[in-house]
Amino acid sequence: METKLKIALQKSGRLYDDSVKILKECGIELQNGMNKLLNEAINFPMQILFLRDDDIPQYVEDGVADIGIVGENIVYETNKNVEIIEKLGFGKCRLSVAVPRNENYADAQFLNGKRIATTYPFLLQSFLDKNKVTAEIHEISGSVEITPGVGLADAICDLVSSGSTLFSNGLKETEVVLNSQAALIGNKDLSSEKQLLLKKLLFRIQAVKKAKKNKYILLNAPNDKLDIICSLIPGMKSPTILPLGIEGWSSLHSVVQEDDFWNIIESLKDNGAEGILIIPIEKMVL
Ligand code: ATP
Ligand code: ZN
Repeated sequence: METKLKIALQKSGRLYDDSVKILKECGIELQNGMNKLLNEAINFPMQILFLRDDDIPQYVEDGVADIGIVGENIVYETNKNVEIIEKLGFGKCRLSVAVPRNENYADAQFLNGKRIATTYPFLLQSFLDKNKVTAEIHEISGSVEITPGVGLADAICDLVSSGSTLFSNGLKETEVVLNSQAALIGNKDLSSEKQLLLKKLLFRIQAVKKAKKNKYILLNAPNDKLDIICSLIPGMKSPTILPLGIEGWSSLHSVVQEDDFWNIIESLKDNGAEGILIIPIEKMVL
């Protein structure tokens, strides 16, 4: 029987869409109309198990799934024996301590003797230990942000992305316990066939991630400024330079990184570049 790589994804929730999307961007199509819990890729030897995110590290540790996509927050909280293979750049959030807005919070010592509500008791306890704070941890399974308002806790430790939930509950963020994003995790004892499939998948994921960070750029440059313009957009090896139909001008094709994108565009314009086109890249293999 053909070896298949079993991947665990979140069944529904914040990571579902991006997890399915990254497989799709890797050219892996799922079957239509299969049940919601188990699917099979059409064009890659892969089975997909849809689970609650909290269960994914355990399934991967046990080898029920070979790999999985889950937030680092869950990986570190559950503390299972799995490997973090690759950060995926979505599902970004932070696990933070927050207190009522009117409190004077100077540092973690504020939390001494306080009641802190959280769904992340393990990570919170590690944070408290590191800061030599003794506090009462109230582990609850949801709606952590309302507990100070109803008198159940003095502080919370919860996931934050924009901070708007904290704000609307009269809370302010005071400490970041962990920065988190979705990650590909793997069982530590994969067969060599499965390792080979994982390598293939990882190669595709890295190509997709690189492509997202880069844009394809085309522009017209005056020939007397070619050297400086080429140095601004060196690309993967060097820019492609083609003669234009107009005397003294060339067309340049290259790749620029998203990070310093706007600065580069400004310098290009300052050096006489014209007709600048920026195009998204779908995959990028170096
Ligand atoms: P499940 O039913 O699978 O247990 P859940 O309710 O525990 O789902 P979601 O709210 O869907 O989980 O969040 C899944 C993951 O999304 C989180 O563990 C975290 O890694 C990430 N995430 C990103 N931003 C946020 C945010 N603002 N709040 C909560 N989780 C976030
Ligand atoms: Zn969950």
